[in-house]
This record gives sequence, structure tokens and C-alpha cells, in this order.
Amino acid sequence: MKFYHVGADEAPRYTGNLDAGHKWGLQGIESCPECGVGGGVAGLQYPCVDLSSLAERKKFDDSWPVPFEEFTRLREVVRPLAPPWALLEPGAPFGPLEGTGSGYFGQLFMQNPWSLYARREALERLQAAALRGLHGCPIHVRFRVKRPPELLELQLELHGQFHPDCLPPDRKPPCPTCGHEPFDRPEPILLDAASLAGSPDVFRLRQGWTTIIATERFVNAVQRLELDGVTFRDLATR
Ligand SMILES: [Zn+2]
Repeated sequence: MKFYHVGADEAPRYTGNLDAGHKWGLQGIESCPECGVGGGVAGLQYPCVDLSSLAERKKFDDSWPVPFEEFTRLREVVRPLAPPWALLEPGAPFGPLEGTGSGYFGQLFMQNPWSLYARREALERLQAAALRGLHGCPIHVRFRVKRPPELLELQLELHGQFHPDCLPPDRKPPCPTCGHEPFDRPEPILLDAASLAGSPDVFRLRQGWTTIIATERFVNAVQRLELDGVTFRDLATR
């Protein structure tokens, strides 16, 4: 099985833009007691996770940093509502995207390298092609266009890791307390083939979650159905 890095089609006709953010977010941390790193992450989003039933839901209205102990407590408040495979890191967003949208969107759309959307009809055609990993979540976005697209955000499972050969040889192991692993996304990416066994047809890289990956089956289906808006770049595996 071949794997591909999913990216936005940069052609000028794709002017679509979502000026929007997710309804809730896990708090950032002031600083980790072990390694001193603070703040939050980008890209670990769970748009189908609904926090509206939580008594403390107001606490998740923003991701303002809190002490590490309070973060770990709030993370356990959210965990029963998140998928069992979810990584719950500081700053991880939840719930529907809220805001405004404008411009022209393809059948598939990426607002940034870690956010993948599909028009409802495109998602249904991909689901009918029996592709795995397609979990569409509604968004609450007001479109300032005549015929607004019905976009769904994909909640992507986490699978796979980089092959050690593409990472810096002197990198430090992840922090045992907060899990922070300091390295930049390798370029070029080399994927660890064994870690991809059993992955669905589209997913987020578990080790580098700003990277969205598709299988050859997904790419073939997108091309056969003539769905536009994204591009695919072949990735090496070892
Ligand atoms: Zn740490």
C-alpha cells in the first residue's frame, strides 16, 4: 500500500476561507513541571466531540493556559466524551467550527495543513466507495455566498509514526510528564511502514498530527470521482 500527504490545491480559483474556530478547547498549560514547556498544540482537533453535557463546559470556552495539575484534571473530565484513540494534549480543540466563510470551495477543502473538510455530497460518494476513516462532523459557519456549500469537517483518527531514519539522530525522548517531543516535522517525510498496519484510508499521523495522510485507495477514489480541492504527494515508507 502506498501513502500520500494530503495538501490544499493552491490553484487561484479555490478562494474558500473559513474565518472560524472550534467551539471548545482543552486548556493550554502554564509550564510543565518536568520540562518547563508551556502553551498548547495545533492540529489535534476533535470536531465531533460535544462538551455541551459537561457541568464545567464554560471552562472549555477558551484555551487560556492553566497550571499543569488543573490541565490533567480537566483532561480527565473530557476523556469519556472523546474517542478511545484520542490523544488529549494541551490546547486540543473540540466541537463544531464556528464563524464565517467566504469564497469558492472545492469538493474537498483544507483551511490549513491539519484541517480537512468535504462537501456533504463528496463525503457520501467517498463513503459509498467503502473507504475507511471518513467521519464527518457538522460545522456552524455562516457563508456570505449565494449558494453556500454544506461542508463537514473530518474527524481523523491517529495512526502511524515517522521512521527514525528521518528524525534528527540527537533528538531527545518525549517528556515523561507532558509528552512534549521537541522536533520539527522532517522533510522529506519517511513513514514507518510497520506503524501503518491496519490504518484507515485517511488519517492524521499520530506522531506528527499536523500531517494528514491518505492511502492509495483514497487517492484512486478521489481521482475516479473527480473530486477537487486537494493534492496528494507520494510519501516514502520503510
Ligand atoms: Zn514536559
